[in-house]
Amino acid sequence: MTATLRSTVLATIFIFIAACSDQTTQQQTTTGTADTKETVSDRAQAIQKSTADIDGARIAKGEPANWLSTGRTYDEQRHSPLADINTQSISDLGLAWYWDTGTKRGLQATPIVVDGVMFTTGTWSVVWAHDAKTGELLWEFDPQVPKAWARYACCDVVNRGVAAWKGKIYVGTLDGRLIALDAGTGEKVWDVSTILPNRPYTITGAPRIVKDKVIIGNGGAEYGVRGYITAYDAASGDEQWRFFTVPGNPDDGFENKAMEEAAATWRGGKWWEVGGGGTVWDSMAFDADLNLLYIGTGNGAPWNRYIRSPGGGDNLYLSSVIAINPDTGSKVWHYQTTPGDTWDYTATQHMILADLEIKGEQRKVIMQAPKNGFFYVLDRTNGEFISAEAYAPVTWATHVDQETGRPVEDPEAHYANEKKRIRPGPLGGHNWHPMTFHPETGLVYVPALDLRFDYAQDNAFKHSAEDWNLGVDLRETAPPPSAEENIDNLQSIKGYLTAWDPVTQQEVWRVQHATAWNGGLLSTGGNLIFQGRADGQFSAYQADTGELVWESPVHIGIIAAPVSYSVDGEQYITVVAGWGGAYGLASGAPRHRNNVLSEGRILTYKLGGKAELPKPEVTYLAVPTPPAMDYTPEQQKHGQDVFHNYCAVCHGPGVGTSGPIASLLYSSEDTHAIWDAIVVGGAYIEKGMPSFGHALSTTDAQDVRAYVIERAKTVIAFCESSFREEYPELLDTACEVPAVSTTGGE
Ligand code: CA
Repeated sequence: MTATLRSTVLATIFIFIAACSDQTTQQQTTTGTADTKETVSDRAQAIQKSTADIDGARIAKGEPANWLSTGRTYDEQRHSPLADINTQSISDLGLAWYWDTGTKRGLQATPIVVDGVMFTTGTWSVVWAHDAKTGELLWEFDPQVPKAWARYACCDVVNRGVAAWKGKIYVGTLDGRLIALDAGTGEKVWDVSTILPNRPYTITGAPRIVKDKVIIGNGGAEYGVRGYITAYDAASGDEQWRFFTVPGNPDDGFENKAMEEAAATWRGGKWWEVGGGGTVWDSMAFDADLNLLYIGTGNGAPWNRYIRSPGGGDNLYLSSVIAINPDTGSKVWHYQTTPGDTWDYTATQHMILADLEIKGEQRKVIMQAPKNGFFYVLDRTNGEFISAEAYAPVTWATHVDQETGRPVEDPEAHYANEKKRIRPGPLGGHNWHPMTFHPETGLVYVPALDLRFDYAQDNAFKHSAEDWNLGVDLRETAPPPSAEENIDNLQSIKGYLTAWDPVTQQEVWRVQHATAWNGGLLSTGGNLIFQGRADGQFSAYQADTGELVWESPVHIGIIAAPVSYSVDGEQYITVVAGWGGAYGLASGAPRHRNNVLSEGRILTYKLGGKAELPKPEVTYLAVPTPPAMDYTPEQQKHGQDVFHNYCAVCHGPGVGTSGPIASLLYSSEDTHAIWDAIVVGGAYIEKGMPSFGHALSTTDAQDVRAYVIERAKTVIAFCESSFREEYPELLDTACEVPAVSTTGGE
């Protein structure tokens, strides 16, 4: 490589260095010439007309040509009956169109498609409307989320999509607003804040709309908040009701009976000071016949129950499935998957409603594979436990008691007194990535994870309004000292697709993937399961057998779920591709280099599609020799501790990110020169890198710099050792990051 090319490539990388977020650099806009204005207006009117009567009856019933709600239908099965693309015809599947989002962070949205128009979202809660047949951008709405709010997003500046209802499109924004847009023009109709003042809430989930009420929850349990869900009038934005999921300070009284009952299960702590958690940050479902809205609640805040509720107790309604009357916002029933959660085992994961024959009886069930590793089948009429078995490796509990429906904890999973290695870890056996239910196979397909974690109590825990509040010592996430242990750590990272029979509670088939954090799922009438993968392939599997029947390289890791729809009688498959999220952002060595070779894209496929993606030109760069710095072993160790407490969730344990945020190991001399200004002074706030001046001194910052330099030296030595030759597939991504140019050359 020439020196000029190298410096250009390095400069490109450094734009993203030290930023926990990038700028949305939108390249395409709706600005048209005067000639096209009339056309745009006609198109806007056509969209207004086609979306004007989207209501609950249409969403409940489902329409083969359309994808009207994030789970397609209120039962959230994510199954398209379209069958033109099937196991026979799929060899003809090709790219119909693609659209560059111009973003580098995680894309998680499920598009909504109405009569040939696609509504979707990108990073920073930006909304786009496209022609679903051609990919032409019709309008864009940027809610102008303050970049500084990225510090309150545990898991990347992502958004999982919009809702459509009676001529409007609804989006929840990262800074906690719910916004209604004119579906035809993208112009704002109303904009309300959903969050309690001065608390670090976010929104990343897609709203659901039930009986003219827009329902939205929040994220933020890692930072310390009290979870709730709120309903707003779809026409006016007026608040209709709010249901808290955990009790506040008992001295302040209780909002309702559910909170009074819940408070009896929290013992001895002052959980309300940190918030308690239980945020409703993703999944919902609705049964119109039963008039029940189902929500899933998150982990405790802090995670550690010995700090949160030292006297024990189940800590209702953490990690629970709750059925709510959508007219009043009152609780009808609940089922708690992880009583007294202390491992970040949220039950916010995708919930699917189906009617199944179980032991000769027709049951109306709700199914969930929450983070805790057990697949649950519950009676959705009353919350009765039917069955649960492990769909992923589980060491925190031996089993779920079939009589009581309670997990039987393994005493070895308690980390109050000593560090414990536990599966699943905080990313779960399954995270937010949508599952799918295929009514013909009767199987639920789960994008599963196997990521262990070392839990240890943080004995110095103190609530901080600006930082993570876990009660778990993140210094334990630092890479182990020995090379062998590092190899073992990297080899332990796994992900797979499992076809699960919810009646027998058994796996029917499994596809083991190359690495973890693969995309959400779509099933179709063509006996197909579509999944984007972390290794940068979009793929299809035969639904009944698991056979890989099609795959196509997209040059970037996919985490979102695909959808299917038809326009003018032709079937399309769309997936939004963009690597990131909790694992993708910070993961070291994801074992595949293809997950960051391109910026984000919307990709749409059809039979006979002939479009071609630009082939990325990739240069792989080894970690450069770091600048000279004098430091003591004590300074370096202090820097390691500070780094893992404050920096690692974005920049990766061991400074190891090879996701969308470039590794600090590649920091330039110039970056080193303004280190304190970035870390303590907030020089890169507009790039989304917060100031840590509230918590860290310049001495702390320089000790972190010492640790980063020490890590660079360690990684260089490791990568030049015989381990590199012995485990090339494992270590290539750890040793060299790709610098990409899609335009070619310089
Ligand atoms: Ca969490």
